Amino acid sequence: MFCDVCVTLNGFLLRKRLSRIVGPEAEARRVAKLRRVATSVGREGQSLFAWRRRPTLFNVLVAEVMLQHTPTARVVPVYERFLRSWPSPGRLAVAPISRLERTIETLGLHRSRARFLRGLGRSLTRRKGRRSSAQLGALPGIGPYTAGVTAAVVSRERVGFVDGGIARLVRRFDGQPTMTMRAASDRVATLMSAGDPRLIAWGLLDISRTTCRFREPLCLTCDLQGVCRTAAADGPHATKTSGPAALA
Ligand code: SF4
Repeated sequence: MFCDVCVTLNGFLLRKRLSRIVGPEAEARRVAKLRRVATSVGREGQSLFAWRRRPTLFNVLVAEVMLQHTPTARVVPVYERFLRSWPSPGRLAVAPISRLERTIETLGLHRSRARFLRGLGRSLTRRKGRRSSAQLGALPGIGPYTAGVTAAVVSRERVGFVDGGIARLVRRFDGQPTMTMRAASDRVATLMSAGDPRLIAWGLLDISRTTCRFREPLCLTCDLQGVCRTAAADGPHATKTSGPAALA
């Protein structure tokens, strides 16, 4: 049982928290804060993975294909082995399928992925140079998320994109659990309208993977806690227990 004073005080504190994150000015501050935090996290994580240390179109696309439905930790050694054997689209375009399958078999879906990767090598060999998200999306088997995140990282295109993890982060940040994927992607596009799209993209990916996790989001130490509508409405509900290693 709560006494009347406690109920009044709780209501007051909740209204005060909400007033900091509702309204046009508060909204602009929230977006700017999310952009700043994502940029900072992205900068910290820019050398975490081989595909980030050398973010060419080929490297990023190969990594994205491997990362689909596969934990990052499992992709890292396979990606490095793969790039040693097939460091360019031209080499990949003529790779024997059986060898490709053996190299990536620990990722699962290796038969379809091997064929897809070789097809990717052929597509990139036929036409070299940078591509927009629209051009990437026209390649066989490349969906809107892969096209968008690749263009943001490789060409620093100001474009929206969303996968399950980023959608979760955006929905919680805005306190809208039923937000559509399309709306979440538009939200990311707004975020991308300023700043460095590459760092923002990496930051969103890392925050969703390591802090705004599916289970037990680490709200207590999340840098977005003060502007996150879910944290304001529900209260922070977890404690960060892991260090930088959690990024891997
Ligand atoms: S405060 Fe919590 S719910 Fe909000 S973005 Fe951070 S981890 Fe996610």
